[in-house]
Amino acid sequence: MLEMNKIIKLYNKGIKNWTKKISKQRYQEAKLVAANKVKVCRKIILFDLEVDENFKNISLIYGIFFRGLEDLTDLSEIVAKYEWYKDNESVEKAWLLLQNCKERFESSSKIVMVPSEIKETIDSFLDTIEKDFLALFGPGLYVSPEILIKKSICSICKTDYRTCPHLPNHLYNGKICRIEPTEIGPGNCVVILPRPKDPRCRLWPWHQEKEGDGLKIHNIPLIISFKIDDFLD
Ligand SMILES: [Zn+2]
Repeated sequence: MLEMNKIIKLYNKGIKNWTKKISKQRYQEAKLVAANKVKVCRKIILFDLEVDENFKNISLIYGIFFRGLEDLTDLSEIVAKYEWYKDNESVEKAWLLLQNCKERFESSSKIVMVPSEIKETIDSFLDTIEKDFLALFGPGLYVSPEILIKKSICSICKTDYRTCPHLPNHLYNGKICRIEPTEIGPGNCVVILPRPKDPRCRLWPWHQEKEGDGLKIHNIPLIISFKIDDFLD
């Protein structure tokens, strides 16, 4: 049987190992380190019948953190390239990765024991990228579609979330409880706003085109599905 202390040591060794690789800009190797640890977490959560609920919950949090390190590796690789901000595709991709990293680290870093110097390095790197985006592209505009949710269920027990015993955003056996819409109808409008719920749906200058007195918008994602624990899907 797996012992929790041993596996936490293994996870923490993975974080140190990732740091070594990324500091030498060995992106592929760094990504492999993080991806391997995500696999370990996934296996424990989904397939290990002998470990208890607490063990699975810890593995979920580490899994989210290592997924964050995977995203961070991709982000570092993009922004290390010369004038990356002049390539539209790189800008859009870096923006999504930045949001992914922020969400994944925010939800996992209270539990994952990251050495403070590593945590500070990660935080200041993300902060710098965020400031670069602000300096280069301003605060931005975002789109948000109106949708009609007709029916929702609990992601843990798949029954009506209003009557089941699970609480949204709480952990159960290595899984996060969510309210999952099962029937969605189209809404009537799309709103453009400065402070969105999901900053991923950003309106970039290359999505906009002047047409007469108005503005024509094209190729903009209305909904981007993102889950911090997407490695369990
Ligand atoms: Zn439930």
